[in-house]
Amino acid sequence: MIISKEIIIKGLVQGVGFRPAIYRIAISHKLNGTVENNNSGVIINIEGDKKSVNKFINDIPNRIPIASNISSLEIIEKQIFGYNTFEIIKSSSKSNEITEVSPDIGVCNECLEDIKNQENRLDYPFTNCTNCGPRFTIIKDLPYDRPLTTMNVFPMCQSCKDEYSTILNRRFHAQPIACNNCGPRYTLHYQNEEIVDINSIVRSTCNILEDGGIVAIKGLGGYHLACNTFNERSIANLRLAKNREGKPFAIMFKDIDSAKEYLNINKQEERLLTSWRKPIVLLKIKKNISKNISIGLDTVGVMLPYMPLHHMIFNKLTVKSIVLTSGNISDEPVLISDKDALLVLGEISDAVISYNREIYNRTDDSVTKVINTIPRTIRRSRSYAPSPIETKLNTEGIFAAGAELVNCFAIGKGNQAIISQHIGDLKNLETLEFYEESINRFRKLFRFKPILAVMDMHPDYLSSRFVEKMNIPVVKVQHHHAHIASCMAEHGLDEKVIGISFDGTGLGDDGNIWGGEFFVCDLADYERFTQFEYIPQPGGDAVAKHPWRMMTSYLIKYFGEDITVKYPTIFDNIDKDELKTIQSIIAHNLNCPLSSSAGRLFDSVSALLGICPNSTYHAEAPMQLESMANENISGSYSYLFSDIISFKSTFAEIIEDLINNINIEDIAGKFHNTIVNVIVDTAEIILKKTGINKVVLSGGSFQNSILLEKAEILLAAKGFEYFTQSQIPSNDGGIALGQLTVAAKRRELKL
Ligand code: ZN
Ligand code: ZN
Ligand code: FE
Repeated sequence: MIISKEIIIKGLVQGVGFRPAIYRIAISHKLNGTVENNNSGVIINIEGDKKSVNKFINDIPNRIPIASNISSLEIIEKQIFGYNTFEIIKSSSKSNEITEVSPDIGVCNECLEDIKNQENRLDYPFTNCTNCGPRFTIIKDLPYDRPLTTMNVFPMCQSCKDEYSTILNRRFHAQPIACNNCGPRYTLHYQNEEIVDINSIVRSTCNILEDGGIVAIKGLGGYHLACNTFNERSIANLRLAKNREGKPFAIMFKDIDSAKEYLNINKQEERLLTSWRKPIVLLKIKKNISKNISIGLDTVGVMLPYMPLHHMIFNKLTVKSIVLTSGNISDEPVLISDKDALLVLGEISDAVISYNREIYNRTDDSVTKVINTIPRTIRRSRSYAPSPIETKLNTEGIFAAGAELVNCFAIGKGNQAIISQHIGDLKNLETLEFYEESINRFRKLFRFKPILAVMDMHPDYLSSRFVEKMNIPVVKVQHHHAHIASCMAEHGLDEKVIGISFDGTGLGDDGNIWGGEFFVCDLADYERFTQFEYIPQPGGDAVAKHPWRMMTSYLIKYFGEDITVKYPTIFDNIDKDELKTIQSIIAHNLNCPLSSSAGRLFDSVSALLGICPNSTYHAEAPMQLESMANENISGSYSYLFSDIISFKSTFAEIIEDLINNINIEDIAGKFHNTIVNVIVDTAEIILKKTGINKVVLSGGSFQNSILLEKAEILLAAKGFEYFTQSQIPSNDGGIALGQLTVAAKRRELKL
């Protein structure tokens, strides 16, 4: 019996070789019909005998390309049309509904082979196919077709055209298809010369890197700065050039085997490193990684080559690893313009490698780590953005502005949240411009019409100010409620939960700085069950750069003004005049907002142990405290719980341990255990009061591996169901998703 069906597939189905894969499945079952892209996804018309059509449908999920992902598959019965062939038909842009935009995909093994063997692609560094290559970074509009990408200025040569139009070819409809005869090219700018021969470029680059030089290299989503991982002088020069005192650099290894020589890599970490997304993975250092790459940390961010040029450089390079850090100065967005790169990076590097294809959407390397065998996203950008998160709510028309630091914004389409690439800290003009430009591009690309905006309660955030200019209704969401809602959205939770949110800072609804919060909450609203005790934060936000100042405030609060006289050794390495100033600020309560921040608590302990009294980048003190901690120690300190959680006894016991010369590693380990106890004990108290058994953990402090791992294990042991973040950062990069979800829920409830 001949039947006819229409199949509508939504999800990540464009720009990933989806239609050719469907074609191949149809041909293998000898079926006729069509497949086409439109703005709402992929539409298949399929005709043939009933058994084969059913086999065809069953085959789809198993035979689609690696980077694709089906979010829905709808089947409609149709009248017999009488197709004689199976054909891929031209993209039509009909509706306003959009489909997903593919993230960029690391170069595949077949393409690497082609670079060695295929006549028109010998040593061609822009080789790609439907399974790999640039996507989001080059897309200007949908549907995803070459004229709407930055490949539009490269007319295909005849042989590329042939591959592009041969259905069984791996490059069939590969929009960025290119070869030596027709595609983009690299140029090396070196000593007033412009070198365009790729082999000379690779050779010169290797020479410069081996001689200790710095090379700026245009990547997929922005420029990188590269130097030899094993050359101390180069690393020092790079730090100087980037004006980066302490922030860690990421490194790239030639391959997984070389990485394993220097780093401890478990199965999950290996899977993440070698995945098509090729993120940076934070790994424990085994040996011989310079202390100056990740100062004071026991981990380093590692990635594997993902562009053909990376592979070509490593094939010639005598060292197995290079530093590959974003090409920018300080905290500005990574550079994407060739002109700026030559001007700015040319100044601080020995050579600049550019190429003549425009990067349209800027992305940074994504950063991940594995905790308790689960991948956790720390920075979500290249090869992750702009993949959406499915929510169970109607999110249509909601714009979520995100937070101030490590900002991402989000837009609501249907029941999806489309989260932007990592934008950065919204505190300089360049980042704000990137933010506004990206919002405009998302509006166009995703046919997004904002009707409701969500912002943080903090009126001074630049993201909040942006929202106020939009002239649409505005919803305000408390920062830590947004953290918890973000995690709930990731897990599809829509009920009352115990929400535990620890981070550096967020404005509370009482006007104080929050960050050590225990909520009983759902998506729409929250009740603050308890909190870390308020401590004056001398000098306001600036205290984050000077952990010793918060430490001083804790100690004065708990042990009085004469603490500096009683235990002078604690203040040994602190400038006495500065100490006096801070004491006076605290005594007179000048610019001392109250803070319950977990981040500031970790800062204070880090300073107290002499690990990081002053920090040069965000969260340096807690990260170094974590690195120092002996995670195998089982002891802990006491703390006090009445209505709130006080760490007076914790600090007293830590000082006692310091006096007794207990080693710093053990003290740091016991402090981590203490916070784990606080989490689990408090959850038990809330459970007793409310009967709620589901615990949601979110906030930047949960990027701490020891804290999260031990909290998960202990919560499970006590019978709690726990939920933590994986796909979406638990830091402020996840705030936009939480804001969007809260607004959608409140709209649904007409609150
Ligand atoms: Zn490929
Ligand atoms: Zn070509
Ligand atoms: Fe936060």
